[in-house]
Amino acid sequence: MVAVPLGIPALPGQSLGAVTVPRPDDDGLLDQYGRVATDLRISVTDRCNLRCTYCMPAEGLPWLPGGEMLSDDELVRLITIAVERLGVHELRFTGGEPLLRPGLADILRRSTALTPRPHTSLTTNGLRLDRLAGPLVAAGLDRVNVSLDTLDQGQFLTLTRRDRLNDVLVGLRAAVDAGLAPVKLNTVLMRGVNETEAVPLLEFALEHGYELRFIEQMPLDAQHGWDRATMVTAEEILASLRTRFTLTPDPEARGGAPAETWLVDGGPAKVGVIASVTRPFCGACDRTRLTADGQIRNCLFARDESDLRGPLRAGASDDELADRWRIAMWGKLPGHGINDPSFLQPDRPMSAIGG
Ligand code: SAM
Repeated sequence: MVAVPLGIPALPGQSLGAVTVPRPDDDGLLDQYGRVATDLRISVTDRCNLRCTYCMPAEGLPWLPGGEMLSDDELVRLITIAVERLGVHELRFTGGEPLLRPGLADILRRSTALTPRPHTSLTTNGLRLDRLAGPLVAAGLDRVNVSLDTLDQGQFLTLTRRDRLNDVLVGLRAAVDAGLAPVKLNTVLMRGVNETEAVPLLEFALEHGYELRFIEQMPLDAQHGWDRATMVTAEEILASLRTRFTLTPDPEARGGAPAETWLVDGGPAKVGVIASVTRPFCGACDRTRLTADGQIRNCLFARDESDLRGPLRAGASDDELADRWRIAMWGKLPGHGINDPSFLQPDRPMSAIGG
């Protein structure tokens, strides 16, 4: 590490971006606004076996060539640096569809052998959970979020362009049988498509003991088709739920959680809304992101990335890689800026960042 005059660690050829304040000498992933990233979202692949209309086009996307993807060993090395040197204690495996990564169980096993052992979770469309839930739990998976936008088979086909609703439902049951409790459900509602399904989806979640979270649709689709005017807002989702349920604010502290939660009919069941657009929660963000090709993103909406793959393959030491990661996070902006007139959608779509 090289100290620059402001006391900020710097490496040759690396821009300090928006940095204006000296970085304190601290091992963690601090930013200039007092936040500390301890939750690492890892995209293990950009490929997916669904084609959700709000995420990617029917024909898919130009996937990352194999040589650009981090190998399992490279991924585990960066995870080790994050956990052992940078204070990360939460690992969320995502994609693309993370269950398409052949080495996922081994990556999990090696990640949970680290000290201190990180908490692990997975965001998945659930299609392969019937076979993989058991082995993943054996490898150290602690929790799962399954994406499910509709309970109607025809609607599922329209929305995901695949006739696989039953496979998701089987996968959900497999997750419960494997001991992954509570299973969380993620739902994106779209106007004129599945917006009437808020109540049936919550009834389904309550019946099976799943915890449901609605996610406001965000400008992260590959087609750049997001439209604020047609987005279903948190207010609308809550109004819809209140036609059937009594919702009271959850007394439990939210911390850095993206979801704001409510007790359903007095509890203990809860429902959450991740209102990234209409109720941004950037001030409490504790996330850092690693893409499948080894780029650090300090925000889901960042337009800049910091390359770790190049230095890693060029022989950088763990110390150097940790410093690059710290610098990347120090440059994090105070907010995602979706609501600024100057907002520009990131080049990388959600499927290649990892939700
Ligand atoms: N394939 C996995 C899955 O389906 O959960 C993980 C990746 S997927 C990108 C993660 C989550 O992002 C899913 O719940 C999906 O519904 C959500 N998502 C994708 N595009 C989105 C968008 N434009 N706005 C909001 N959520 C989105």
